[in-house]
Amino acid sequence: MIVLRRLQSANILRQFKTLCVLRFDKFNTNSILRTDIKDVMKIEIQGKVLQFPYVWLRDNCQCEQCFHPSAKSRIIDWSKFDLNVKPKNVNKSVHSVQVTWDDGHISEFKLSWLKFRNFTKESQENYTNTLYKPAKVTWHGYDFNKVFSKHDYSKIINSDNALYDWLLKFSIYGVALIQNTPDSETAVDSIVKRIGFTKKTHYGEKFIVQHVANTSNVAYLSNNLQMHTDLPYYEYCPGVNLLHCLVQTVSKGGENLLSDCHYTVAYMKEKHPKEYKLLTETEVEWSDVGCENGNEFYKLYRSPVICLDKHGQVIRINFSIPQRGAHFPGPIESVKPWYEAHSLFYELNEKFSAKFKTKAGDILVFDNIRLLHGRNMYEDKCNNVRKLIGAYLDWDEIYSRLRCLKVKLDAEDGI
Ligand SMILES: [Zn+2]
Repeated sequence: MIVLRRLQSANILRQFKTLCVLRFDKFNTNSILRTDIKDVMKIEIQGKVLQFPYVWLRDNCQCEQCFHPSAKSRIIDWSKFDLNVKPKNVNKSVHSVQVTWDDGHISEFKLSWLKFRNFTKESQENYTNTLYKPAKVTWHGYDFNKVFSKHDYSKIINSDNALYDWLLKFSIYGVALIQNTPDSETAVDSIVKRIGFTKKTHYGEKFIVQHVANTSNVAYLSNNLQMHTDLPYYEYCPGVNLLHCLVQTVSKGGENLLSDCHYTVAYMKEKHPKEYKLLTETEVEWSDVGCENGNEFYKLYRSPVICLDKHGQVIRINFSIPQRGAHFPGPIESVKPWYEAHSLFYELNEKFSAKFKTKAGDILVFDNIRLLHGRNMYEDKCNNVRKLIGAYLDWDEIYSRLRCLKVKLDAEDGI
């Protein structure tokens, strides 16, 4: 477990202790792996003996014949690569090690470069949970105010430190708020530009969330918007949702609801394993059929509600009552149990959800493949029409920007 937090309440739901669903479990004992580690070079770096396989060292030679310095890419001719390569001679100096291979090729590795890539579990975990992807921390609605970080629009635009701080907290908790955004339909574009590109969908580069009659999407209605993820019918589903509140309703209602499904999934796995299993294994057909700005669409995608990776970690949540198609791809006997599991998931997410109301100038940013979001019913008045501008981004862009910033800021700090 990377993160283990405890809830301190007598409430039965809050007795659920394990908040973390992330586990680093990369080391399997697959039978195809040799148990004896041969052909490794042992190099002492800062008092610790670290092991590096010959084949890996040769593959990662940093010389200009093997690695293009400006493209930062391997250019080895693989048809000539010798998997059984062995060193003929090794010379270690204060900061580097020079290896002469049995074919005469010479590689030189900086010790700091090797140390950063060493094969110890501790080092691999550290890399996985920092530069690769910051480890997520799950939350219950009761803890929402502790995890809901607030960031200033102009600071994000003007400062890399502020941008990094926002993106880091957002990646950990899956939700963050940007405040003091200019009252403009294009303000969100400047935020996106600080990161990368929007994810365009059939609703456009950006979309307006406003009450309209004869709508093609239920989000444009002003009644309760049940908790959901956006666009589950996309195979390449947008990872991040940015919602800029231009006009908030002064009426009762209009509050946002958010729940961390990673928390819910961990809870279900422990307390309701059968329902958890059904939601991880049963494929659902997500669907969106219609016409937007003259463009017809017929989107279908089959995937379970809870998608796990090979380590059992949640990689994507799909949930949308309106956008779940009527075709049920599984066996008929699984239908009723699946509906029961689906209901439990929904009920738990409602129980675990946080409720708050954004105000004009806020951009609510949330992880669309981790959180469910919804909105309470509200009522427009002729001089107060609730209006949001939305845009999607991919996690690829967020993580890429985070890594660029981390490298840059660490270098500035002399790390
Ligand atoms: Zn080389």
